[in-house]
Amino acid sequence: MIQRVPCSKCGSLLQYDNASIHEGLRDFEEVICPVCGNVVGTVFTDLLPVAAVVKSEG
Ligand SMILES: [Zn+2]
Repeated sequence: MIQRVPCSKCGSLLQYDNASIHEGLRDFEEVICPVCGNVVGTVFTDLLPVAAVVKSEG
């Protein structure tokens, strides 16, 4: 499922997919803002969530 979250540091609107393949292997992974490197959230998944910029501020 696609999640959208604004970065609290630089204001960019980010989206990431919080899907997982192997539910038994899930762990908390940090979602990093690709613009400023801020941690914008955590996802409980076995994959590495990659945030994409939907709309950047400034
Ligand atoms: Zn940011």
